Amino acid sequence: MDSSKIRTALALSERIRKKEISVREGLDATFEIIDQKEKSLHAFLTIDREGAYKEADRLQEKVDAREMFGPLFGVPVAVKDNLCTKGIRTTCGSKMLENFVPPYDATAVQSLKDAGMIIVGKTNMDEFAMGNTTETSYFGCTKNPRSEAHVPGGSSGGSAAAVAAGECLVALGTDTGGSVRQPASHCGVVGVKPTYGSISRHGLIAYCSSMDQVGPIAGNVTDCAALMEALCTWDPKDSTSIKRGSLDSLTAVKQGRLDVPTYGKRGRLDILSSLEDGVPGMKIGLPKEYFSAGLDPQVAASVMRAAETLERHGAILKEFSLPLFQYFVPDYYLIACAEASSNLERYDGMKYGLRVPGSDLHDTYRKTRTQGFGEEVRRRILLGTFALSEGYYDAYYLKALKVRRLVANAFDDALKEFDLILGPTAPTTAPRLGEADQDLVKSYLADVYTVPANLTGLPAISLPCGVGEGGLPIGVQFMGRRFEEALLFKAARVLEKETCQNG
Ligand code: GLN
Repeated sequence: MDSSKIRTALALSERIRKKEISVREGLDATFEIIDQKEKSLHAFLTIDREGAYKEADRLQEKVDAREMFGPLFGVPVAVKDNLCTKGIRTTCGSKMLENFVPPYDATAVQSLKDAGMIIVGKTNMDEFAMGNTTETSYFGCTKNPRSEAHVPGGSSGGSAAAVAAGECLVALGTDTGGSVRQPASHCGVVGVKPTYGSISRHGLIAYCSSMDQVGPIAGNVTDCAALMEALCTWDPKDSTSIKRGSLDSLTAVKQGRLDVPTYGKRGRLDILSSLEDGVPGMKIGLPKEYFSAGLDPQVAASVMRAAETLERHGAILKEFSLPLFQYFVPDYYLIACAEASSNLERYDGMKYGLRVPGSDLHDTYRKTRTQGFGEEVRRRILLGTFALSEGYYDAYYLKALKVRRLVANAFDDALKEFDLILGPTAPTTAPRLGEADQDLVKSYLADVYTVPANLTGLPAISLPCGVGEGGLPIGVQFMGRRFEEALLFKAARVLEKETCQNG
């Protein structure tokens, strides 16, 4: 059996568990494609061939001993390079951490291992996850596998490109303002930003902690759902991690104390089990503001076609007006930079990471941080420090927090009327390499559709809905109520069956 022909992670795992192919053979197919494509693509920063084969042999013993397996058992997976991996270099796309080898695994990485998945390597990303093209990586850009003259999006560009190129079937990204969904959209794959608190942030190198969230990336909706289920665990090591469906949370909801999940048997998500339910009666809102100036007409047309497909399958569509649209991006960037300036303070050349010795302590700090961080990271630290300084804190940071609350209220109000909010993931298809640098403000503004899910903590999914000029993919995005990822996946599955080859 030629395992390179297996196109989904679930199918690959099934074949492995039925012993139709070995775990090693599954891995061979992955490395074969990596060897073919990596030279031009540059999706990976580190490849752990030796570790992966060692793990494959260990897993094969489990198959042979007929031990219990999950639906992703034996599947190779790529991990974004801002998630700590024990014994594997974790750079965050930065010179600052070029030689950093973590002594522990991030909880999300541990979840992959618990699911019997094999980590094949670490993927390229914008430095410290700041960017939307993967061009701010200290190690050079990744190319978009659909067209190598274009960026893959970012900041999880390496993960999205690796999946799109078939270098792996599934990958982990992280999403602070769209970094899973936007590269998924630009590369023509599926990406999810879960409800804040769903997947542990322990071991994720912090950018903006109140918005950072790990998210699954896959070539199709079902694989993405399976990976999501494997990742959602309660983690005492992350104080913002949420216990789904636990007795405690159910009591809290009944008492009106907390907004925590009520679905799922025995604390499980039940996304896969409801995936094929369809969308009859589902109420879907289309914000008028999303379809205004700035949106590429070919993207608008594709997204509208996706909405009509759902309508044909029984969903009820309605346009509505979403307030505060013009504040999404400034609000996001203010808060993100403020938190980044505080989070990145730890890179001082003393504890770990790069050290550039200076004439005294302060000179060492200055030299280390000037040489260790790239231009975009330095810009954001400066902006954030300014916004948090005495005299400006109230005018900028505190104001931004108030706006964030208003944005959350606006979405909560809309989601009282609608089950889902549908819109584009990005205003255009993937830009050309080097294009974003020419107009930074325009590049920031391109995050307008993705940042609200992070400001509000709501879940969102991006999946392919068409192709634009030059064969570049177009993505559609659904946002839903907290902990109702299952609805997003159901709608996505309906659409995928009509539009994608992999469905
Ligand atoms: N493009 C956004 C930024 O640069 C989002 C990044 C992210 O989600 N990590 O902040």
